[in-house]
Amino acid sequence: MINFTVGPVQSSETVRAIGAEQVPYFRTAEFSATMLENEALIKKFAKASEDSKVVFMTCSGSGGMETAIMNCLSKKDKALVINGGSFGERFVELLTLHEIPFTEIKVEHGKALTAEYLKPYEGQGYTAFLMQKHETSTGVHYDVKLVSDFCKRNNLFLIVDTISTFLCDPFNMEELGVGVMITGSQKALACPPGIAVMILAPDALKRVEENKCCCQYLDLKLALKNQERGQTPWTPAVSILLQINARLKEIEANGGEEAEIERCASLAKYFRNKLVEYNLPFEIVSESLSNAVTPLHPTTASANDIFLKIKDEYGMWICPNGGSMKDTVFRVGHIGFLTTKDYDQLIDAFLDLRKKGFI
Ligand SMILES: *Cc1c(COP(=O)(O)O)cnc(C)c1O
Repeated sequence: MINFTVGPVQSSETVRAIGAEQVPYFRTAEFSATMLENEALIKKFAKASEDSKVVFMTCSGSGGMETAIMNCLSKKDKALVINGGSFGERFVELLTLHEIPFTEIKVEHGKALTAEYLKPYEGQGYTAFLMQKHETSTGVHYDVKLVSDFCKRNNLFLIVDTISTFLCDPFNMEELGVGVMITGSQKALACPPGIAVMILAPDALKRVEENKCCCQYLDLKLALKNQERGQTPWTPAVSILLQINARLKEIEANGGEEAEIERCASLAKYFRNKLVEYNLPFEIVSESLSNAVTPLHPTTASANDIFLKIKDEYGMWICPNGGSMKDTVFRVGHIGFLTTKDYDQLIDAFLDLRKKGFI
């Protein structure tokens, strides 16, 4: 199977080989050194400030989102949240569950974020802002600079879910003044699922210090204290942390995060050009694309039927959509270990489906 989904994605040989090994004991100086190296490389690739801290939580990306809310926000906050798809909706559900006062900014599926959306909230006493940098469900890459400027003007604490965009689109955490950034191991990090990576800027560290977290397992005070010596409070997903280390070093050896972003961008471009070249009956449904994924509306067949055909008859996974977009949108990812040859194979499958009159 070739995997064109947005996670879990295909891993490199080196990363896969680590998964085949015995899991080592981890309360050792060697494992601590690996964890501190992971922290340094993550900070470097996200362009985080020197005084930021990184934690590796054993949970999926959503666990990172909940951890950020439980540790950095309280009932005294008044938050704004962008909701333009299922991951924005998840932030809304989490804020509701944890009883954080908030206002939702609804963005229509496929639409870019513009200054118009933020205007009504200038000078309204908000204290925090939550957003996806890339709303993976609709494939819309939001203008985080616009939100960053809004937050700086209004003195808001900014939490950014970069889960599907870290290492595929440019991001400068320090320049943007982001308080918390969250990513996951199975997206562009191209490792198995199981680790949420979070970077906390000094304003986030202060909030963690002053807040009470009502969950021991996700308490960032404990995670931060342990990470000072490259450890975790509980047994982490040890192998995945070793795989993350191999992957980060691989990226570093191949020219760093900018080269990796460029690699992803060129795959996206290759695929999008092929769609035009062969005049395939798919419309791109996002006003603002990330390099991570191409969201497509098939004009002649059901998106879910195409997903099933490609899986069952051609041995490839494209990424289906759920809910109201099930039959109207499918996505093709550009993260993980893919090559232009893989896209040629996918295009051939689409051409074959067209020849058979299916699309
Ligand atoms: C994948 C993803 C998540 C959730 O990640 P899980 O690992 O499935 O919990 C959250 N936000 C965005 C933007 C994502 O792409």
